[in-house]
Amino acid sequence: MDIEAFRKAGYQAIDRICDFYYSLEQRQVVAPVQPGYLLEQLPDAPPEEGEDWEVIADDYQKLILPGMTFWQHPSFFAYFPTACTFEGVLGDLYSTSTPNPGFNWTSSPACTELEMAMMDWCARLFGLAEHFLNSSGTGGGVIQTTSSELAIVVTVAARSQYVRRHPGTHLEDLVMYVTSQTHSLGVKASLVLGLQCRTLDVKPEDGYALRGDTLRAALEEDIAQGKRPFFLIGTVGTTSSGAIDCLDEVGEVLKDYPDVWFHVDAAWAGVTLACPEYRGIARLKDINTYATSVGTNLHKWGLVNFDAALLWVKSRKDLTDALDVTPEFLRTKQSEAGAVIDYRNWHLGLGRRFRSLKIWFVLRSYGVKGFQAYIRRCIELNEYFVSLIKTSPTFALVTKPSFALSVFRIVADPVALSLGVSLGSDALNDLNRTFYAHVSARGEILLTQTQLNGTFCVRFAVGAERTRKEHIDKAWTLIQEEARLAVKEWADSIRGGR
Ligand code: PLP
Repeated sequence: MDIEAFRKAGYQAIDRICDFYYSLEQRQVVAPVQPGYLLEQLPDAPPEEGEDWEVIADDYQKLILPGMTFWQHPSFFAYFPTACTFEGVLGDLYSTSTPNPGFNWTSSPACTELEMAMMDWCARLFGLAEHFLNSSGTGGGVIQTTSSELAIVVTVAARSQYVRRHPGTHLEDLVMYVTSQTHSLGVKASLVLGLQCRTLDVKPEDGYALRGDTLRAALEEDIAQGKRPFFLIGTVGTTSSGAIDCLDEVGEVLKDYPDVWFHVDAAWAGVTLACPEYRGIARLKDINTYATSVGTNLHKWGLVNFDAALLWVKSRKDLTDALDVTPEFLRTKQSEAGAVIDYRNWHLGLGRRFRSLKIWFVLRSYGVKGFQAYIRRCIELNEYFVSLIKTSPTFALVTKPSFALSVFRIVADPVALSLGVSLGSDALNDLNRTFYAHVSARGEILLTQTQLNGTFCVRFAVGAERTRKEHIDKAWTLIQEEARLAVKEWADSIRGGR
């Protein structure tokens, strides 16, 4: 494709993307396709001769778009959101137009310096302490692909720090800690690195938050058995219910165990720190006081298109001590002089994408006020959803709402009462599963199921940039309809069984 053909194809692509966004709301959130739908339509091997761009571009519309689940749809309430803004799209477009592995300062000064600046911008946006800033010269921030990858990086750094402090440590004695509500990223890091991982219990009455006593008891028990605790992951905003660990209690306990690296995973909820009124709930003070490292994903609820997982560490040396491998061909005058950051020593790969560009575009276009307004709007919309749940005799919240996330389920129903049957916990779980299956089958909204303490429940997470009150109303109507149908099915089966 030559430059003029690219110009034409590029104009057409932008036109089609705009048309797609105009039509988004009329489309199904969930792709109405069955497994294998695409594989059946693709040839087994690439074409021998090159094809016309027109045909290729049309095939994207015909074959690919119909098989996409639209995370940007205003009726997408599943998982946590995946951000999409046009500023982010343009950032990716520009960055991919001059691909650059940006592994050290010399390989592209702009890539490194914009990333350093954006990590400091975001640290200030979120109120993080000076010691996390690149400008501190000791701590600093780096963009990673995902929070899961970021967790592996931090675990490697924590392990290396522990072993440096305690030479001769047997790696099999090391133990890291997560809770039953920590994202799977903790257990995954332990699997990848062949380390022991202990899962700590959290209780419904504590809102599924990790308490200091639980941690202390586990640390004492493990140390008594000769184990070496080296790493703990705390969470601000767990995946299932948005729980927030008691970082103050945990941090105080860890004062007695200074070799334990304390990482705070705020992948989803970290962005609420942009709003001063949420900094207390999201435990900014504790993060700044106790955390060795902290991460949040701008690509979830932070308006920046996937991928943009942000990691800050108190001591950049802990990363480079663990990850710096420098063969002759990677030596540069500037890094030998200590004048620049070589980000290749702050993550797992060598090459890295130029992700700071889209962050720069988004933050400049929205400004702090626009960013805050978006976060506040999502939380307000969730509060509206919560108010609907609270007025319904059929549904109840399972946990306290957390920012823009609610977890709810069917709890009782007039039909059950009229039949004179009470719903036991198994029956209620089955009824809720049926209800969730009904909602999912409609394909018009998307929610996610979860289990809390053996209770099957449904998550409702607001975050798509285009979601407004009318979409919450539409979702609520559908939820009520499907609950009625699920209850009727269940009541019919009871009557049939009598
Ligand atoms: N941490 C939390 C609390 C999450 O909810 C998630 C994903 O939803 C992750 C981490 C994983 O994020 P990533 O996909 O960037 O690895």
